[in-house]
Amino acid sequence: MKVTFYGVRGSIATPGKETVNYGGNTSCVLVEPDDEVVLIFDAGTGIRSLGQLLATDSRDIYLLFSHHHWDHIQGLPFFRPIYQQGRKIRLLSNYLNSGDASSVLDQMTDSHFPVTGAQLQAEIEVLAFNDQGIIVIGDTKVSTLPLNHPGGGSGYKIETADGSLAYITDNELFPPDEMQTPYPEWVNFLQGVDLLIHDAMFLDDELPKVHGWGHSLVTQTLQLALDADVKHLLLFHHDPSRTDAQLDEILANSREWMASHSAEIEVSLAREGESYQPG
Ligand SMILES: [Zn+2]
Ligand SMILES: [Zn+2]
Repeated sequence: MKVTFYGVRGSIATPGKETVNYGGNTSCVLVEPDDEVVLIFDAGTGIRSLGQLLATDSRDIYLLFSHHHWDHIQGLPFFRPIYQQGRKIRLLSNYLNSGDASSVLDQMTDSHFPVTGAQLQAEIEVLAFNDQGIIVIGDTKVSTLPLNHPGGGSGYKIETADGSLAYITDNELFPPDEMQTPYPEWVNFLQGVDLLIHDAMFLDDELPKVHGWGHSLVTQTLQLALDADVKHLLLFHHDPSRTDAQLDEILANSREWMASHSAEIEVSLAREGESYQPG
């Protein structure tokens, strides 16, 4: 199984010389569990360049959305495979408060984009999860849990014979009000995964301003990785205001935090263009 990052930024794309190292595109992560299937988590601006590559092969594409906020869907109209005649593309979303996976095409209407969803040449189909929030795609098991985020959405766990990973973004581990998934359930769900990709948008001193916005603190995410005993943690959905230098500092502090807790969990920051092979 191979994972490659095409977009790691939260909220809005941030091109420029201060973000060139970690990258400025919004959320998009490619997971290739085997040679047959392509799983893509979120269609932020990073999906445009991924689409250029995928347009040259014929693998079936499964697009899994954490939720439908702009930064997770806005690259979709520029994803070349949706314009390929007969290309099979499946859309999946879960635990949204309104709409289903097909609602990502609502952005392709007259006032917002010249091509409408009905004019796409690919064979686009919506797939549903079962009552337990699970779907099996080829030899890959995909499980979901509801996010703690305004408007809902889902976190994903992928299990193959090779290894496991989880993609959980736009998730506030300790929200001030209503909670869809309490912390112990996350710990249970993520127990022992090889690679955890998790929202780590904010820092401790920012909490008073951002509590309830639906994102986690770096330190909360580190604690989750520790409690769930994951092998490797990747901090994700970087705040648009963070420069490369500030992200380097967050990484150094995070590694120090793990060392001070005598944990052998590897910590990295998600970075555009980087690949991992969990397991
Ligand atoms: Zn987001
Ligand atoms: Zn969001």
